[in-house]
Amino acid sequence: MVLLMKKKKKGAVPVYLNVYDLTPMNGYAYSLLARPWGLPFWRAREPGPEDVVFKVLYCGMDHTDLHQMRNEIHSTNYPLVPGHEVVGEVVELGSDVKKFRVKDIVGVGDIVGSCGECLSCKSNEEQYCNNRIVTYNGTYKDGRPTQGGFSSAMVVHHKFVVRIPEKLALEQAAPLLCAGVTAYSPLKQFKGSNKALKAGILGLGGVGHLDAFLVSSNTAEMEQAASSLDYILDTVPAVHPLQSYLPLLNVDGKLILVGAPKPLQFDPVDIILGKKTISGSFIGSMEETREILEFWALKGLTSMVEVVKMDYSNQAFERMERNDVRYRFVLDVAGSNLE
Ligand SMILES: [Zn+2]
Ligand SMILES: [Zn+2]
Repeated sequence: MVLLMKKKKKGAVPVYLNVYDLTPMNGYAYSLLARPWGLPFWRAREPGPEDVVFKVLYCGMDHTDLHQMRNEIHSTNYPLVPGHEVVGEVVELGSDVKKFRVKDIVGVGDIVGSCGECLSCKSNEEQYCNNRIVTYNGTYKDGRPTQGGFSSAMVVHHKFVVRIPEKLALEQAAPLLCAGVTAYSPLKQFKGSNKALKAGILGLGGVGHLDAFLVSSNTAEMEQAASSLDYILDTVPAVHPLQSYLPLLNVDGKLILVGAPKPLQFDPVDIILGKKTISGSFIGSMEETREILEFWALKGLTSMVEVVKMDYSNQAFERMERNDVRYRFVLDVAGSNLE
């Protein structure tokens, strides 16, 4: 394993750590950093007055990371630093940032910027802003690329940084920042209803394991469960017929897509009879991220995570591909002996 690190410059971001082991995989080298051979290493951007600089402690690993590294989602720009469930410790604050202190434990999820002016931004749903800036493989307004949390440090605008509640274990907090809030945000589609909701989850893994119910593949169980659910959270990214699941919904029930199976296969009659809805949801807002963190801390909830060091990241991605993880890998970035 080779670790390359740029010397700290005076007054600059504390660490410009970059690449480790350059194991070629599918034509690309990655571990911490995905890049084709010969491209320059990445540098974190210089912090501005509204930025928070933090040392990365943990970062969740997600299927999206793997697909982005392999250029399978939309065109990936290399070099690429994946990672969008980032937990870290504040080391430096811009002069205008008042809500955090140095040494605070903070988190960053899927987005690091938005326009601030559109209806979505103004109604605290910045994840639906058409000009949102994603945490990595995105572009800042000045044209520079964004880079994620498989890195020793990050610089993020304070609006997109949340505080991690003290009672929450850090490796537990990480998956809540994307997978957790993705499962939580759809509940908001039932705002105003005060009855207890009964939900089913399609697909167990990244997002699905964070909730309690599981839609079964057992026919008898499925028949028994007919018309019993208020919503089904569909996390499956691969094509799957919805005919077997829509009958589980009660009148007015919703099937909420958070994965993107193309094409959708269903019988419209299953929607018409029962005025059901097929709807969608994308990650969650900053406010919802704070809510789910507080909720998990308050209730003392945990999800199953496997903590691994960065030099295991290639194996972890291979195992993730084989579905050989119960249920989520979290990188122990700070404990990975990077220096
Ligand atoms: Zn906006
Ligand atoms: Zn994710």
